[in-house]
Amino acid sequence: MYYNIIVARPFDRVFTYEADDPTLKIGQIVIVPFGKTMEVGMIIEGDVIKPEYTIKKINRVLEGLQLSDTNIKFLKWVSEYTLAPIGSVLKLFIINKDIVSYERTDESLHETIFKSVKLNEEQYQAKEKIIQIQETSHKPIVLEGVTGSGKTEVYFELIELEIKRSKQVLIMVPEISLTPQLEYRFKERFGIEIDIWHSKITPKKRKEIWHKCFEGEPCVIIGARSSLFLPYKSLGLTVIDEEHDSSYKQEDNIRYQARDLAVVKSNFEKSKLILASATPSLETINNINNKKYHHVFLSKQYSGLPLPTISLVDLSKNKLEKNQWISNILKSEIDQCLNNKEQALIFLNRRGYSPLSLCVECGYRHQCIQCSSWLVMHQQKRRLLCHQCGSIQEMSEDCPTCLSKDSIKFIGPGVERIAEELSQTYPDKMVSVMSSDIINSPKKIKDLVSKFSNKEIDIIVATQIMAKGYDFANLSLVGVIDADAGLFGGDMRAIEKTYNMLQQVSGRAGRSQQPGKVIIQTYYPEQPIIQSLQKRDRSSFINQALAEREQFKIPPFGFMTAIIISGSSKANVEKSAQQLVYVKRLSDEISVLGPVEAPLNLLKGQFRYRILLKGQSRKKLNIFTKKMINSAKIPSTVRVVIDVDPYSFM
Ligand SMILES: [Zn+2]
Ligand SMILES: [Zn+2]
Repeated sequence: MYYNIIVARPFDRVFTYEADDPTLKIGQIVIVPFGKTMEVGMIIEGDVIKPEYTIKKINRVLEGLQLSDTNIKFLKWVSEYTLAPIGSVLKLFIINKDIVSYERTDESLHETIFKSVKLNEEQYQAKEKIIQIQETSHKPIVLEGVTGSGKTEVYFELIELEIKRSKQVLIMVPEISLTPQLEYRFKERFGIEIDIWHSKITPKKRKEIWHKCFEGEPCVIIGARSSLFLPYKSLGLTVIDEEHDSSYKQEDNIRYQARDLAVVKSNFEKSKLILASATPSLETINNINNKKYHHVFLSKQYSGLPLPTISLVDLSKNKLEKNQWISNILKSEIDQCLNNKEQALIFLNRRGYSPLSLCVECGYRHQCIQCSSWLVMHQQKRRLLCHQCGSIQEMSEDCPTCLSKDSIKFIGPGVERIAEELSQTYPDKMVSVMSSDIINSPKKIKDLVSKFSNKEIDIIVATQIMAKGYDFANLSLVGVIDADAGLFGGDMRAIEKTYNMLQQVSGRAGRSQQPGKVIIQTYYPEQPIIQSLQKRDRSSFINQALAEREQFKIPPFGFMTAIIISGSSKANVEKSAQQLVYVKRLSDEISVLGPVEAPLNLLKGQFRYRILLKGQSRKKLNIFTKKMINSAKIPSTVRVVIDVDPYSFM
């Protein structure tokens, strides 16, 4: 008997194997000899005609391990949509030989004692509305709520219903750093442990969770992107928390948008899906407008306090002192906040001390040798760091080019420099920095968060890591150092992302004890985008952004695919990029932009070119892309990456 098998290797084809057993089913997980090793595979077709060449035998059949039809349907869909080889997609499901071949021991279910939570009227209405919708519709539901409105409590209620029905529940979060707080709240609410799934859990835990999902055992999982590929057997509900977050886009290896894939998956599984956010993405809003998604809105803070007031500081009128970045207006607000024994959060989304080091004698700038990017000075570590590739150079204030002494000046601020200015202004106060390079583990996050909660820290200077998910009772002031960074001139999503981030960080102030204040420093207070931020008029930002995207036929009003060509020889990379475009089949329906040198034209020593394809049909765009790639002769030293629905244009 012969079977076609997908092997968990990056090949976009099936391999034929022989087995004595004629009863093996589609979806059966097997171990097969592959090259010189053994590899995991999955039967995709039985009763295959014996090929001409000699073929190998299936080595082992993993009894009882068979992926469900919906899982197989989803697997095929992911491969077709993302243009990733089907073998690579299979690997997302079965991970490795170790995991699938594990025999799990029977575990009895824990008794659950639910602690009931008092919802306010608005939360209660939202919950009832969602339950009502779910009775008759499988469409995704967007749970939008202003920061501090208590979305989590609402979806916890819905999770409780699923647990009582013995279903499986997945809560997806964009970053692992958000899991500790959610884990804690879950345990408080439900009295049971939740399963955490991400790349850093132990192999033992991985196996346990994988098999639990496979067996259809009731469970609740909090996971990052990859949790989508667990082999759920009875998925009842998926919650995508912070659905707008661009971290849902996986950028390395296989490129996929986990949120979008979750929508497809729940549709296949006929399970429920909730997209939660204070700042839903434009794609999601467009789906609400087109009645593809339902919409439930929480308009008030749970505490009953009004939302914080937002004021602008016009930096062109309120000039900053030399080498200072905090205006006098913001400083006097900080004074008042500290006098009231309250705490402040100062926000700047830039790690390190200074983004640019410049020689004042000859104009030399410290640049990464492997990338086309400036090195960022990190004072705490006394180092120059490349934020693209992570490479490190020792810091020196002497110029390596003109050899002048002490001629390197540091231009512009990062969080460390803002913290320095605050420490000088408030020598008796405790100032801390929260950014991903300093607070780089769940434990450090926990420590810093508990210190801030216990008022051991007066002012926290933070990057986006702090923008979402945190609740501090005594935090009454949020200061934004530079609203202009990222709001003007970036790509379409960069602006949306910055806008959302500023709206989210503004929501950290005044959540439970006293109304909060937000002070935003900008050189462009009259700009519509800054105005809508200040007036909390999100809809005018949304309408403008949607109109722009519609005009240029970009997502969600059209489809894009990026092709990134890279390699160590610039000439080869350029030639390959040109060849891809040369062999294209001309089509009126698809526009081909490029090739152009990527903005980040050198990364980790690799030269990079980009091509952007645009079209009105994903299917046609994918057919076109495949043709283009297959008909070009690309040398093995040049790497071609296909990025369907790109989020990064660097
Ligand atoms: Zn110099
Ligand atoms: Zn670099």
